[in-house]
Amino acid sequence: MNCPHHCEIFKSRPRSYKDLPARFAEFGTVYRYEQSGELHGLTRVRGFTQDDAHIFCMQDQVKDEFKKVIDLVLYIFKTLDFQNFKAQISLRDPENPTKYIGSDENWAKAESAIIEAAAEKNLPTVVELGEAAFYGPKLDFMVQDALGREWQLGTIQVDYNLPERFELEYTGADNQKHRPVMIHRAPFGSMERFVAVLLEHCAGDFPLWLTTEQVAILPISDKYNDYAKDVLELLNNSDIRGFVDDRNEKIGKKIREAELKKIPFMLVVGEKEAEEKQVSVRQRGEGDKGSMAVDAFATLVGQAIEKELSTNV
Ligand code: ZN
Repeated sequence: MNCPHHCEIFKSRPRSYKDLPARFAEFGTVYRYEQSGELHGLTRVRGFTQDDAHIFCMQDQVKDEFKKVIDLVLYIFKTLDFQNFKAQISLRDPENPTKYIGSDENWAKAESAIIEAAAEKNLPTVVELGEAAFYGPKLDFMVQDALGREWQLGTIQVDYNLPERFELEYTGADNQKHRPVMIHRAPFGSMERFVAVLLEHCAGDFPLWLTTEQVAILPISDKYNDYAKDVLELLNNSDIRGFVDDRNEKIGKKIREAELKKIPFMLVVGEKEAEEKQVSVRQRGEGDKGSMAVDAFATLVGQAIEKELSTNV
């Protein structure tokens, strides 16, 4: 885990209340020795990447920090079109108060800060008593994919334990030493797991802005492979990703295979296109778009991406 390292960074120099909240973020590789029978695709792996961050703040900043992280998670969900989700708030077991570290007062404050933050952001919420970690309450985002299956993705957790263990402190406005509150947050959780959920959610049909290959350039015969490569270079210059299918195959087969791969755009190039410096455009789900110059096509892709992002975000 990355948490102790961020504690050490916080501790590496004196901190004042004016430095708070201090937020450290990284994409960190972490390992977990799962039993071989428990390993599963990308969802349960032994080495994975966390979009991890730790926020060190004062107790009365917890609510605002939670609201900011909730905004970040909602931005991600909207961008990727996850519409069905709920926030699970995990609180102490009131029957068993000795199980937890940290003062009663701080727990009560943190719990109500989380509940209020979720309410102010209008999150659909479920509250689970007794599901908090021993070191603090938390909020997890449970997401339903397109097939109705539920996954736990983002998480935001309050932690009273690590600041204590690492003896973290800051100088308050009263010139006294105080202990900061630590918040762990990972909007995606594990990147590998998130990609798995995203693949299921869109059944492999990624949005245009995200898909790895936006364009397949299909020369009618090898005579036009060089022109196809020129087209690819021009598109790359406009940040459009794609490849040239320069195999010695019939054009019908190249088109069928690009369709199976769910590639959003196909550009067919032959003699006419090479002569006129154009491309013949087919858009997935929309069909034939006719011939156009390469820069006109680049503009078309740019507009399609803008439309996609503006409807979701
Ligand atoms: Zn952490």
